[in-house]
Amino acid sequence: MMQLFMPLNFLGFVYREMKGSMANVERMFDLLRRTPAIKDAPDAPAVVISRGEIEFREVGFGYGPDRPILDRVSFSVRPRQKVAVVGASGAGKSTLVKLLFRFYEVDEGAVLIDGQDIRTVTQDSLRRAIGIVPQDTVLFNASIYDNIRYGRIDAGEEEVQEAIRLAHLDDFIARLPDGHNTLVGERGLKLSGGEKQRVAIARTILKRPPILVFDEATSSLDSRSEQSILQAIREVSRGQTSLVIAHRLSTVVDADHILVMDHGRIVEQGSHHELLAAHGRYARLWQLQLREQDEEQPA
Ligand code: ADP
Ligand code: MG
Repeated sequence: MMQLFMPLNFLGFVYREMKGSMANVERMFDLLRRTPAIKDAPDAPAVVISRGEIEFREVGFGYGPDRPILDRVSFSVRPRQKVAVVGASGAGKSTLVKLLFRFYEVDEGAVLIDGQDIRTVTQDSLRRAIGIVPQDTVLFNASIYDNIRYGRIDAGEEEVQEAIRLAHLDDFIARLPDGHNTLVGERGLKLSGGEKQRVAIARTILKRPPILVFDEATSSLDSRSEQSILQAIREVSRGQTSLVIAHRLSTVVDADHILVMDHGRIVEQGSHHELLAAHGRYARLWQLQLREQDEEQPA
């Protein structure tokens, strides 16, 4: 009984918080994921975003004491740069994102945004400054229009339409029985993984956060949906500080800088062409994925 009661009660709390603050959908995730162990420092100020720079400085981290996950990870995402992180499953890529959002505290080193150690600012302001397109997007039982508007509840119709267009959702919506008033979510129309991701991208466009994070935003998609999503991501992230976590290397070719992770360490870095020329791990991953693609789509 207790087990059933607790989550329901908690969801009730989340719902009341959302209604009360007219919060956006990311805020709901914040509440769901918030680790009670991580507290704001007393009188912590809001993070001040001036240029939108991310820095990981000698970060060490483990989920438990006996298994280190990240080992002295250092990198920067300069203002308006797009940095991609690639590497095998389990390398520690998503862990970087969780630390950036401060869902967990680093054990060693520091994560800084525009020079401010993220431990010194409020979690709320931190999470408002960063927009994320997660791998799996939650839709509410509401119209697709309202689902998109959750990105910024006070957005006007024109802004929502613009976001729909930039996220390449317009053709899809035009084919729906009631257009953008069509109900989606558990009790409405079920969207495919790619369509849900485009909704997440549209929400993020509305939110216009100074820092963008994409976590494997194109995994589990067929090549055609992937190309369309990649184009949407490119449009959203143009001129924006963005961190792109990718399993498929096609996502990262146009990144300013690529980090290759393995077992919690950065083992290589550079541009796509530099890394290919280095004939190291990235070059091998690239060859491997080219071969897999050929097998998927025989000429
Ligand atoms: P990637 O995103 O590169 O696939 P992750 O950052 O998700 O890798 O995971 C890195 C390692 O941390 C993996 O070995 C994974 O099993 C472990 N891990 C991830 N999340 C947790 C967690 N909440 N508790 C314990 N271990 C975790
Ligand atoms: Mg991951």
